[in-house]
Amino acid sequence: MIKRSFIGLLKPRLEYGSVADTPSLKQIPTPKEITLFSNCPFDKKNLLLKKKATVKTGQKLLLYKESDEYVVSSVTGQVSSISSYTGDLGRSYTAIAIEVADDEEIDDEFKSAAGGSKDASLETIINFFAFTPGNPPVKLLSDKNKSINTIVVCCADSDLLITTNQYIVKSDIDAIKNGINILKAATKVNDIIMVASQSQMHELSATGEKVNQINNTYPSALPHLIMKDILGKVVPAGKNPEDIGVCFISAEAVASIGNAFNSGQLPVTKTFTLVNKDDSKSLVSARIGTPASDIFKAFNITLNENDRIIFGGPMTGSSVYSEDHPVQIDTDAIVVQDRNDIPVISDYPCTNCGDCIRVCPANIQINLLVRFLEIGQYEEAADQYDLYSCIECGLCSYVCVSGMPIFQYIRSAKYELDRANTAEATNNG
Ligand code: SF4
Ligand code: SF4
Repeated sequence: MIKRSFIGLLKPRLEYGSVADTPSLKQIPTPKEITLFSNCPFDKKNLLLKKKATVKTGQKLLLYKESDEYVVSSVTGQVSSISSYTGDLGRSYTAIAIEVADDEEIDDEFKSAAGGSKDASLETIINFFAFTPGNPPVKLLSDKNKSINTIVVCCADSDLLITTNQYIVKSDIDAIKNGINILKAATKVNDIIMVASQSQMHELSATGEKVNQINNTYPSALPHLIMKDILGKVVPAGKNPEDIGVCFISAEAVASIGNAFNSGQLPVTKTFTLVNKDDSKSLVSARIGTPASDIFKAFNITLNENDRIIFGGPMTGSSVYSEDHPVQIDTDAIVVQDRNDIPVISDYPCTNCGDCIRVCPANIQINLLVRFLEIGQYEEAADQYDLYSCIECGLCSYVCVSGMPIFQYIRSAKYELDRANTAEATNNG
């Protein structure tokens, strides 16, 4: 397990994982029940989807009246519950549990809408791909305020130890090629930029697109650094690449689109990297919504009290507190940490050692920023100490000799400020 470094002065050199070191893909059997999370907060009064509704595999399920939010069922079965789920930072989601039936039926709405043809419209992509593996940025592509003129296809994995996108490139290059052509035709964006690690360059030459090589050292594959190093564009503080016309999409999301138009079926399985307590890695394919406990069972992983489960990579992922937490469309990794390997979070004060400042790719005076974050003075942190310049790499927490949870402070502060701004905008009508 990657442990916090106690070597000050030196910048840590953290290399991304390689798919060459990961054993071949293991398929997890379809579970008895799956749970899908929609980003939509639970709203009992306006629910369209009903308990006991029968659903087919690949069926689009609209959730609420006067809303276009939907999920895609990854199984055939019956809706057993629709409830509220509180996730990371207190975010509210709608959780849809579906009991799996013995016989599988494939829904054909997508096939009919796509007309059996390989020519996709943007409308079809918006209508069917908002809940498919790799989490295609459908909302961005359909947002008229964003005027996207460049699409970056990220073939490398953005966090350490993960090899999910690398595996997709290795195993499904034709689907990626098809997905790129579909995206070009549907969005009318011809400026497609592929970014990949050195080891992927040869495979990706088959797409016929120009491929840009990124450095193999973390955090080069994070969008803000790709923008700077490959596109030569600096994203202003508090903004995202889409605010300056650039949309990021993962290789897996592109392959999902390519495969769906080839087969006439929406993909319902997610590929991800499982990192075990001893750092061994496995590639896994499971139905979206499969509980983590089914994955652990398939790999004989036993969890002890105080072990940690992280959804996402070790630097930017989030801890979950139940073995039943399900695999979602954006789950690129599940990391299991032994309780003895978990970096100690302490309440020691900042010693002003400066290590965090040395590693920060955004050049933030973190030792000053953290003082305001600790006491909840988020507006001051944003106005005077560059909170919004943070690109959320987590390196500051990784090197902090005092064991301060700096990255968690930063995420909470941004979340709370966003909530306050949204509430203010709503109140001002
Ligand atoms: S997470 Fe920390 S190191 Fe990374 S950009 Fe933000 S402040 Fe800098
Ligand atoms: S926040 Fe941590 S790493 Fe940064 S200066 Fe203080 S003690 Fe050092």
